Amino acid sequence: MDLIQLTPSAYHLRDGSNTGLIVAGGKAILVDTGLDKDSARKILRAVDSLGLALVAVVITHAHADHFGGAATVRARAHVPVCAAPLEAAVVANPLLEPLYLFSGAAPVAELRHKFTLAEACPVDHFLMPGEASIEGIPLQVIPAPGHAPEQVMIAGGGVCFTGDACFAPPVMLKHGIPFYVDVDRTAASLRALAGLDGSYLYFVPGHGEAVTTIGPWVEQNLAHLAAIRAAVVDALAESGEVSRIVELAAARMGVSIPNPVIYWLTQTTILACLSALQAAGQATLAVSENRLTWRPSGA
Ligand SMILES: [Zn+2]
Repeated sequence: MDLIQLTPSAYHLRDGSNTGLIVAGGKAILVDTGLDKDSARKILRAVDSLGLALVAVVITHAHADHFGGAATVRARAHVPVCAAPLEAAVVANPLLEPLYLFSGAAPVAELRHKFTLAEACPVDHFLMPGEASIEGIPLQVIPAPGHAPEQVMIAGGGVCFTGDACFAPPVMLKHGIPFYVDVDRTAASLRALAGLDGSYLYFVPGHGEAVTTIGPWVEQNLAHLAAIRAAVVDALAESGEVSRIVELAAARMGVSIPNPVIYWLTQTTILACLSALQAAGQATLAVSENRLTWRPSGA
């Protein structure tokens, strides 16, 4: 993990999943916790090395790679953990993540790995949108739903920690079809994020390097999202079966799905596109002869 001081009162703890510190008066708030106990230990060592007293943990969203270390940090540093209400439900009950990925059925073994099933962590306080202060450290809680239902960005010390609201372009291209639960809200959150350029000195994504200007990344994220949606529209013209739509959209995006977990993550994004198309009056669904079939509206 690389410890990078971005401003006099904010640090980027760069790792596979980024975390950050917002500091004031010798105290620090930790933004996200990384994947597991190992990430938690590295973070606590970094906080110690800076001579800071950790006073709270705030979670951007309840994906295992962002909160998997929360239980360890909470237990070792004796600090409260804060998350938006819906995300808090998953942090406290992490089985919900593999459960929703598997349509609510008892999750298969593949989904019980630490990448989709984190250690449970009690949540002490809910994060609400707007200005907040924890132990005298000011921060802003900025809603950014779309990648997760109630994701928030956390800003303080001149830095905005964006969670997975906006992907660094190399990360986005590596995923090909990133995980979204709501594509319309993702787009709205991205547009709002672009409006924050100039308000913060740095933007730290969940994965990748910090940048000083987020606008260009937002444009690339919006274009990529539109391409995925267009791929689903094209696939829908050819087939009404979700499995075939996943296959066609993945091919169109140049994606090769390597395993069942990535398949279910990808399928969620495709379902999010179909849901948005239905809401826009562009797609309908029906069950006939025990088959659920989607079709373009009017077809
Ligand atoms: Zn995420």
